[in-house]
Amino acid sequence: MTDIAFINARLPDLDAESLGAPTTVVVRNGRIAEIGGAAPEGMPRHDLAGRTLMAGLIDCHFHVVAHSLDLWSNVIAPDSLAALRAAKIMQGLLDAGFTTVRDLGGADIGLVRGVEEGLIDGPDLVICGKGLSMTGGHCDLRARTDIRPDAMGWRLANMGVLVDGVDDVRRACRKMLKEGARFIKVMANGGVASPNDPIDSLQYSDDEIRAMVEEAGNAGTYVSAHTYSDASIRRCVKLGVKSLEHCNLIGAETAAMAAEAGCTAVPTLAAYEGLKLEGAALGLGPAEQAKVDIVRDKGLESLQIMRDAGLPMAFGTDLLGQLRKYGGLEFDLLAKVLSPAEILRSATEIGAKLCRMEGEVGVIAKGARANFVVVDGDPLAD
Ligand code: ZN
Ligand code: ZN
Repeated sequence: MTDIAFINARLPDLDAESLGAPTTVVVRNGRIAEIGGAAPEGMPRHDLAGRTLMAGLIDCHFHVVAHSLDLWSNVIAPDSLAALRAAKIMQGLLDAGFTTVRDLGGADIGLVRGVEEGLIDGPDLVICGKGLSMTGGHCDLRARTDIRPDAMGWRLANMGVLVDGVDDVRRACRKMLKEGARFIKVMANGGVASPNDPIDSLQYSDDEIRAMVEEAGNAGTYVSAHTYSDASIRRCVKLGVKSLEHCNLIGAETAAMAAEAGCTAVPTLAAYEGLKLEGAALGLGPAEQAKVDIVRDKGLESLQIMRDAGLPMAFGTDLLGQLRKYGGLEFDLLAKVLSPAEILRSATEIGAKLCRMEGEVGVIAKGARANFVVVDGDPLAD
């Protein structure tokens, strides 16, 4: 990795909510070696002329294998094609300033290694393997009349696998952890883009989710749950789930419980905005469109509730297929409730914590990885 000094760089101070005076950031072997002082003699330098040097952004809810919103067309793609498509999506994320991405179902260790080996340009991926879904749950894409067995489970572009029963759930968790999963994902509640499950349906038994929490805990990590309804979120918190995805329908009491239990929420508002704008044109049926409205209408209110409860929120988008172009919209939606500093923190420090990479990414500090975004102007003002 190249050694380089960035000079005349202004760094955002999230506590003071202002930009610091122009300074020097020295990078050696891909890590931040020094902040401040003079650039070392003979080291290549890049003059930022007062522009802002920020920590690379973190998207804590993404699916890099979700090439199309037509999930079935993704699933039947050969793994080689799915991998090439994912590589292109990952390049797009990096170009948009995301240097770390937590994948919530689909990506495998091959995509992680592809980046590490320099075969593809992409963000560092933090993977969970496949999302765990019960039969008839959020990842069961089969129509009611489709009685074929689930044969597509471990295909690369499938975001989830159907697993039922405590023993099989344990086996699936162990397999994924062995294959590089850094956390476990469970579909614990009904979903929008799935055909058979109402938003308020609870998915999996308590015992099955407890088994996942135990397996993840034994491996030193945690369970993340797809969850919308207040009842589902509350059940997840009680069962020991630590990462709460979406949370659109959360109530104040549950948010306080989640904060107390040390959970992190990952709101993904742009996904529903994108589905509202383009879902119908992209083939989303009337039943799924009705479910979009249920969660979209409560999105901004949920931000307010979670902030007031002191529940940390990590930045996530969950934009699938053609909706990826709405990534920037998440910032606009968050800005209706949160301050710029709160949003930046969610897309850096809080995300890093949820990726269990605190001090490594999401921060400009000595020893951290040199993952940067350079922007014109002041992100703490705009
Ligand atoms: Zn979800
Ligand atoms: Zn998702």
